[in-house]
Amino acid sequence: MKQKEYPVRKGQVLDVTIEAYTSEGMGVARVDGLAVFVHGGIQGERLKIRIAHLGHTAAYADIVEILQPSPERVREDCPYAKDCGGCVFWHMTYEEELRAKAKRVSDALCRIGGLHFPEVSITGSPRKTGYRNKAQYPVGLVNGKPDAGFFRQRTHQVVPVRACKIQTETADRVRETVVQWMRENHVSVYDEKTGKGLVRHIYVRCAMATGQVLVCLVINGDRLPHEKALVDKLGINVDNITTLCVSIHKKSGNAVLGDKFVTLFGPGYIEDILCGLRFRLSPRSFYQVNRDQAEQLYEAAVRQAGLTGTETVIDLYCGTGTISLVMAKHAGKVIGVEIIPAAIRDAKDNAIRNGIENAEFLCADAAQAAQKFAEDGIKPDVIMVDPPRKGLDPQVIDAMVQMAPEKIVYVSCDPATLARDLKRLEEQGYKTLHAEAFDMFPRCHHVESVCMLQKIDN
Ligand code: SAH
Repeated sequence: MKQKEYPVRKGQVLDVTIEAYTSEGMGVARVDGLAVFVHGGIQGERLKIRIAHLGHTAAYADIVEILQPSPERVREDCPYAKDCGGCVFWHMTYEEELRAKAKRVSDALCRIGGLHFPEVSITGSPRKTGYRNKAQYPVGLVNGKPDAGFFRQRTHQVVPVRACKIQTETADRVRETVVQWMRENHVSVYDEKTGKGLVRHIYVRCAMATGQVLVCLVINGDRLPHEKALVDKLGINVDNITTLCVSIHKKSGNAVLGDKFVTLFGPGYIEDILCGLRFRLSPRSFYQVNRDQAEQLYEAAVRQAGLTGTETVIDLYCGTGTISLVMAKHAGKVIGVEIIPAAIRDAKDNAIRNGIENAEFLCADAAQAAQKFAEDGIKPDVIMVDPPRKGLDPQVIDAMVQMAPEKIVYVSCDPATLARDLKRLEEQGYKTLHAEAFDMFPRCHHVESVCMLQKIDN
């Protein structure tokens, strides 16, 4: 096979100007038509860079010297920023990060979706640090001792992060306490290569409004040794642990949680308050990680749905029923669909605990449920979707179009699949009237969007 020709070679040092950002937050420069992705580059900067790697469609480079810094460049406020693979935007102002994220959404809508959204507004997060209510610390051996933190970028090597800026102090304390307990009691660390060893991840969920904390140890085994020592230690070091459980996970692979959960104490869930409603959250159920910003996102979704109190709404990918129940207060009836049984149990319980009687929940695959609704002739006024990153299956889109709702509200965590799906919906009689972005994940590259489509009368 003929070797691909590049206008640059590995190790080459050259001067470039950063023109844009990649979806992962890297700066983009162009050298003789080749895109060069520069770690830590900010738009407008003149940089001396060294080519580190030649990829299929782009080269990757590191900064050797900042020749002309951007006024948006700031001193990195996290000591782990260089090592930890979690955040990517510590080197710039939050305003520049928001501009990069809004541009990412508008670019995706225009380039992939073929839509006209040259400017997309973005709502910044009320909290820029300590905003995450969920932490998943991989456990590994560091200098021969059990430790936990985050994976180094593109590796499974644990960087022991003692204090993570975007996590809560509670999560840090749980991490530290479990690591100490493992060291003191010689509890083994899971080894991905051999499949041996016990503790894989420390999973912590903090309910920001109630202060309740759920701690879950993901283990490659059936039970925890020295359980009492752990319970005592957590009780001394961390306030408000409402539930302690283990997730039994003996399979190889990258999934963080196993399928089976055993509660060691507490009810097996925690409760949080969102948009004035009380939600029960099991460890396996999805819950937006940035609670305060989720409120703003949900309010936008409800606003875009334009509910007047009489409508029938179908909420596909409903999780624990958060959006469904917020919408139920403004609609005639809501039907939520979700594939995880524990989340549906939470959703049903959440309807009851909030005294909401006009919401039903169905545990099913969204495509199958949507097809069944369409066959049964159900005609919702609004379909709300909030799929995982891969977006909507074509069968879901076809079934949605068949149900012919007046409005579709699409909440998305991936601008590229969102744009692809909007294009498909536009080809089948819908028009995207509204698009806006929400920053749920300050300092990380992810961005959330809400779009509203209206049925066009032919
Ligand atoms: N709207 C909810 C959850 C959104 S996350 C909220 O804001 O809290 C996406 C949800 O889709 C997750 O709960 C996930 O379990 C669910 N899901 C993933 N694949 C699915 C499928 N094929 N059918 C139905 N639900 C699915």
